Amino acid sequence: MNAINETISFIKEQYKTENPIPLHTPYFGGNEKKYLIETIDSTYVSSVGAYVDQFELMMENITQTSKTVAVVNGTAAIQVALRLIGVKTGDEVLTQALTFVATANAIAYQNATPVFLDVDLDTMGLSPKAVEIFLDEFGDLRQDGCYNKKTGKKISACLPMHTFGFPVHLIELIEICNKWKIPVVEDAAESLGSKYKGKSTGSFGKLGTFSFNGNKIVTCGGGGAIVTNDLKLGQKGKYLTTTAKIPHPYEFVHDEMGYNFRMPNLNAALACAQLEQLDDFLQNKRKLANEYKTFFESNGIIFRTETPDTEANYWLMCIELENKSERDLFLKSTNKNNVMTRPIWKLMYRLPMYSNCQRDEQLNAEFLEDRIVNIPSSVR
Ligand SMILES: *Cc1c(COP(=O)(O)O)cnc(C)c1O
Repeated sequence: MNAINETISFIKEQYKTENPIPLHTPYFGGNEKKYLIETIDSTYVSSVGAYVDQFELMMENITQTSKTVAVVNGTAAIQVALRLIGVKTGDEVLTQALTFVATANAIAYQNATPVFLDVDLDTMGLSPKAVEIFLDEFGDLRQDGCYNKKTGKKISACLPMHTFGFPVHLIELIEICNKWKIPVVEDAAESLGSKYKGKSTGSFGKLGTFSFNGNKIVTCGGGGAIVTNDLKLGQKGKYLTTTAKIPHPYEFVHDEMGYNFRMPNLNAALACAQLEQLDDFLQNKRKLANEYKTFFESNGIIFRTETPDTEANYWLMCIELENKSERDLFLKSTNKNNVMTRPIWKLMYRLPMYSNCQRDEQLNAEFLEDRIVNIPSSVR
């Protein structure tokens, strides 16, 4: 009880307020208004415009990839990335059950089925070991890829998610997936600015996806991005998300079923102004993370920190309580006292639409599900 009260006071001191403290609020301290007004004055508020192009260049620069496609949100980014990598009706995609529902939904939009494998305790993201164990038991390597011995279906992608900005063990995961001819798409929605061995998350897989929703580290109201080092795939992504139109000065010719998943220029203007501040946001959050770390060391609650070889963006910071009842007590007291906290997501196979999907034992995911709580993490 004492540790909880101390935590409440500490968080209120950090944010210097007695008002409700949210988990994560956007911070508009740069050129946001300027760029938005410019955009309105230019009349290019919609699906094409200079800020869309600039946003794509900035993302290529930040993630050190050769092609970025700006899209309407992070969920659409995953859906299109899966289509680009060849996920088709009836296929299966390996992913984690400990994730936000959009990861699983994007798989279902391709009429494919998620297979839920366990996470690592240290990263809270898809475990290379769990993938290896699963494939050793169920993998059937054929000429055209990997099949699931149990279902007979093709496993056409692996979709790890970097939980709260903590990178998964990417090198090991990609090595195993390569061995089994399974392409990797990274759901990096939460990990813009996070690095693994000095390289940006999202740039390791064949494709990576980001979200710029209102609660993410950088927001543009709503938006997403697909990044890749495969120029051809990137160009195909741009084409599919812009109605699959063949370039022509005045005729409308579309030769595939595409999408209108474009990021409006108005949103891109906001995104550019926000991306200019990414380094400041990262520094600001790292400072708060260090303060939390020192504080929690003295009061006996575990504050989750980045793993060796990684740099986390500390998007949503989190603590690990002793057990479920301690967690529930913490959630109740903090929320009652104007400090917003919330538990990690319910595992995907507890949701009705994904309850019949194949999965492994989920020992780590269930451990974390009972104990992990997010605490206020906004840029101050
Ligand atoms: C936010 C988020 C998404 C989806 O992003 P939207 O822009 O809200 O569609 C996908 N996956 C994860 C893990 C997320 O946190």
